[in-house]
Amino acid sequence: MTLNFGRPQLSIPGPSVIPDRVLAAMHRPSPNIYEGELVDMTTTLYPDLKTVAQTKGKATIYISNGHGAWEAAICNSFSKGDKVLVLVTGNFGLGWATMARELGIEIELLDFGLRRAADPQQVLDRLKRDKFHEIKAVMTVQTDTATSAQNGIAALRSAIDDAQHPARFMVDCIASLGCDRHEMDNWGVDVMVAACQKGLMTPPGLGFLFFNEKAAEAQKTADLVTPYWDWHLRSKPDRYYQLFGGTPPVHLLYGLREALNMLVHEEGIQAAWARHERFARALWAAVEAWGEQAMTLNIAAPDQRSHAVTLIRTNGPQATPLRQWCAQKAGLTLGISLGIADPGSVEFDSMFRVGHMGHLNVPMMMGTIGTIDAGLKALGIPHGSGACDAAAQVISEHNF
Ligand SMILES: *Cc1c(COP(=O)(O)O)cnc(C)c1O
Repeated sequence: MTLNFGRPQLSIPGPSVIPDRVLAAMHRPSPNIYEGELVDMTTTLYPDLKTVAQTKGKATIYISNGHGAWEAAICNSFSKGDKVLVLVTGNFGLGWATMARELGIEIELLDFGLRRAADPQQVLDRLKRDKFHEIKAVMTVQTDTATSAQNGIAALRSAIDDAQHPARFMVDCIASLGCDRHEMDNWGVDVMVAACQKGLMTPPGLGFLFFNEKAAEAQKTADLVTPYWDWHLRSKPDRYYQLFGGTPPVHLLYGLREALNMLVHEEGIQAAWARHERFARALWAAVEAWGEQAMTLNIAAPDQRSHAVTLIRTNGPQATPLRQWCAQKAGLTLGISLGIADPGSVEFDSMFRVGHMGHLNVPMMMGTIGTIDAGLKALGIPHGSGACDAAAQVISEHNF
């Protein structure tokens, strides 16, 4: 007998579940790419992307994954030898910093470890000591997908302002956009990086950059700007093909159009943030019910946790067998830990991640929680009872 017969459930932190409507929207013959419907449809994407980012600044779309958008952000912002301060709360902040260093940027890391968000006070102290304003920018992630720490972007901006420092503020929202509240303009973010395959529910292949006037001004003298990554023509094209530096990503654009219909025009971005918070809290309640004998949340402080992904530490190397049971016996794919421990090590086998981003409703979230619960029982892993009950309680709260 098998119980793994039915629709598989993917609970990894990206690429996330693609809605059938998005897949269906992509299923079409190639259109004319020089005029007509595709050109008209493409122009409708930008206002909606700006709504998702909560900005009146510029939005650009690249044919790339998140790493491409990282490189685009760096190339449009700096000259070789510029200095940046990178706030690290896990593998992703570090990855962006490493890329900047390889491109010739002098990076200074403020590392906050793996179990908490960046501390604005430390940022303030460091910037105050930079009397000659050698630091050109502060770079960080909103959500570090490896640790599931969420940084307080507004508080970090306040730290820069309180230090009366002119550094630009650059934020990677690849995991958080469309899931966690983000208010680019209100929070004073100058450059924001995103991609389509997480909260935006579209197959991988589109990277996004959002930038304001201050960033556009700095770009004019940045000597790392290259023809492909240059955001100038992409945000102000003379011709359609300049939007993408060549052939447009036709089918991904149709997929994105449908995803934005769902996220911006049907659900609404505020409602999407609230939904993600509710699902995250349901999972946290379940983990607390399973108890420390079974597992703990990597990030202790609730206000420092992502609403899109959760890193869980099991009490011993049970995470890998649990993941395998869920995948093979039940049809649920959970996320591995990333960039924290070597695959095969005890530490690696003691962590797993749950992605809860994008196209997600109650049976999907409760299915993930219930399947983990069944896996713990099947494998004889000691755990507290009532996890599904605790999650259902959170889900059922009345304020929606
Ligand atoms: C997924 C992710 C990336 C990398 O995106 P790719 O599309 O895999 O290149 C970068 N930063 C964060 C925060 C992410 O979640």
